[in-house]
Amino acid sequence: MKIFQYIKSLFLKHTKVFVCAVVILCATTVTLTNLIVARNNEVQVESVKENKDEELHVTKASEKKIKDEGNDSQDTYNKAVDKSTKSVQEAEEKAYANDADESKGKILSTTSTSHEGTYKTKSYDNLYPELYCTRPETQVTPNKTIFLTFDDGPSQRTAEVLDILKANDIKATFFVTGCGGELGKKMMKRIVDEGHTLAIHTYTHDFKSIYKTVESYLDDFNKIYTLVYETTGVKPTLFRFPGGSKNGFNKHNYREIIAEMTRRGFDYFDWNLSVGDAVSRTPTPAEKCVSNVLSNSSKCAHGVVLMHDAAPKRTTVEALPKLIEGLRQQGFRFDKLTHNIDPAPYSLVRPYR
Ligand SMILES: [Zn+2]
Repeated sequence: MKIFQYIKSLFLKHTKVFVCAVVILCATTVTLTNLIVARNNEVQVESVKENKDEELHVTKASEKKIKDEGNDSQDTYNKAVDKSTKSVQEAEEKAYANDADESKGKILSTTSTSHEGTYKTKSYDNLYPELYCTRPETQVTPNKTIFLTFDDGPSQRTAEVLDILKANDIKATFFVTGCGGELGKKMMKRIVDEGHTLAIHTYTHDFKSIYKTVESYLDDFNKIYTLVYETTGVKPTLFRFPGGSKNGFNKHNYREIIAEMTRRGFDYFDWNLSVGDAVSRTPTPAEKCVSNVLSNSSKCAHGVVLMHDAAPKRTTVEALPKLIEGLRQQGFRFDKLTHNIDPAPYSLVRPYR
């Protein structure tokens, strides 16, 4: 009892101190609770954002291949490779490698929802009013189909490539540049005459200038589109971005460029298999080119193979017959890319369609 009396006397003597202590305790509890609730909300928001970013549609295997081969930028496509080209290539390779590392399998995706109804007028909408095409209905790609694709030509190698394709009765796809001069024009005609798909890569292949703005991309695209049309009478409908659909040079506007090009009806293709002929400046040995594809293709239902058509790519040409033979042994048939093929399985960034 003495203890209670002692406490009571203490309380009466220091009433103000007790009241202050209780108030401080209550205030601290409320503050801590608010902080915990706020942090939980933050975590939830971050989690939703990450889920959105992970809206992937390419297989893990193709992501790895695309990451490995992201330096499609290795552009010795033109025999007149100069110092500035070299520095751009190095910068692009580095930027793309960093970019791929950054994403670590979480490749940023454009929204897959249709932009109809929410489309806002853009300053470049009315640029090049002829630069439109109509997308046909998509057809299902039969299993065990391989699409061989050649970037950066036409070049001194194009005739060799065409001869091999002809000997094997195979149609393929050429994503061409505007840098081939008169030989380039001659080869463009031969590509068309022999039944292959002539598609657009770029006119200049100058990463810095083409990806500067949507307008500069359209300027370059229109230049090569016009060259192809005037040379062959073909209006291309397919294209491939130098460096792939998302790379170190178009991180700031790849969504806008993709949206604009697909709004105009064009389709782009990345790849899910590669011979690896752009990974270093020294030619990749032919055997390695073959095994780079065959070791991955057996796991694929169908595939788009990235190769380069450029003067220094002699081992790519050397590898081609063995690659065709190996793929046939794995049960594949060959076809060319066309506008009614869905590019999504081979695309780094989900296309609008
Ligand atoms: Zn290229």
